[in-house]
Amino acid sequence: MSADYYQILGIGRSANSAEIKKAYRKLARRYHPDVNPDKPDAEKKFKEIQEAYAVLSDDEKRQQYDTFGRVDGAPDVGFGGFRQPGSSWRDAGGFRVDVGDFDTATGRFQDLGDIFGELFGRERGVKARPRPERGVDQEIEVEIDFDHAVRGTSVTIPVQRQVRCTTCDGSGHTGNAVCSSCHGSGVLISTERLRVKVPEGVADGQRVRVAGKGAEGRGGGTAGNLMVRVRVGPHSFFEREGDNIHTTIPVTFSEAYRGGEIEVGTVHGPVRAKVPAGTNSGRTFRLRGKGVRNTKTRAYGDHLYTVQIVVPKVMSPAGEEAARAVTDLYQTNPRDDLPTNL
Ligand SMILES: [Zn+2]
Repeated sequence: MSADYYQILGIGRSANSAEIKKAYRKLARRYHPDVNPDKPDAEKKFKEIQEAYAVLSDDEKRQQYDTFGRVDGAPDVGFGGFRQPGSSWRDAGGFRVDVGDFDTATGRFQDLGDIFGELFGRERGVKARPRPERGVDQEIEVEIDFDHAVRGTSVTIPVQRQVRCTTCDGSGHTGNAVCSSCHGSGVLISTERLRVKVPEGVADGQRVRVAGKGAEGRGGGTAGNLMVRVRVGPHSFFEREGDNIHTTIPVTFSEAYRGGEIEVGTVHGPVRAKVPAGTNSGRTFRLRGKGVRNTKTRAYGDHLYTVQIVVPKVMSPAGEEAARAVTDLYQTNPRDDLPTNL
């Protein structure tokens, strides 16, 4: 005669599966070796409870047990013969419980799923589960063209991020076992292609924040941010200083002397600008609001252009004549006011 499983679980022979489960949970919680260290009786009792539950929770085995008073022929159960009352656990030999994956080598459940979570989630979970911790910010550098920075653009960047392990939902363990996917860290590395909007007017070295795309938080904490540091390439013509753009505009002597209207290229397109009569080479003029938009204030900077008088390359008697005539117009030597030594 084998042990009375109904008696072990303290239930009647007509108990339904919910009642069996409930009784098992209650007893397993009380007699689990982890909550009863140094109590061999508790361990023995716990194993009896497991054995009883393994049979009574399985309809087929329960029917066999009810009919024959014992269960055999089920290879995965592996009963080596029924224990007589008073015999020790080890004497029963080779007993395996096929609820979840009970590891006979360690005598521990590898995965009892919700049962274990319910039993020990509170006691062990608090210790094992990390406190909610915000994920760290991650930084990545991206290089964009000058004109893309001025106009704004979007870039697609492959980003390696820490994300919450889906196997253990970030807890680092499944049941009471260390999660095999993340090895207990609760996070995995994933590579995502992120489309990041770079605002109009972004400056070299400026960082664009992508909320929540940094490292995943731990223990339910929020994710960090991804900081995209933007490197802006140079332009062959436009020089940027803050929100202002600088250019040098060549003019003829006639334009500088008589004054005129010239076309000045800006980042917003060509602008008609006046050169006043008598403009010296090197003089700088300002076109307000024709610079780069500030990413914070949203106001536009200015375009500053410096006039440079270009001397004609062609030499001719007529040119020499004209040059002599111009020289006569200087009332004084233009270098008169300069110091001649230290
Ligand atoms: Zn995991």
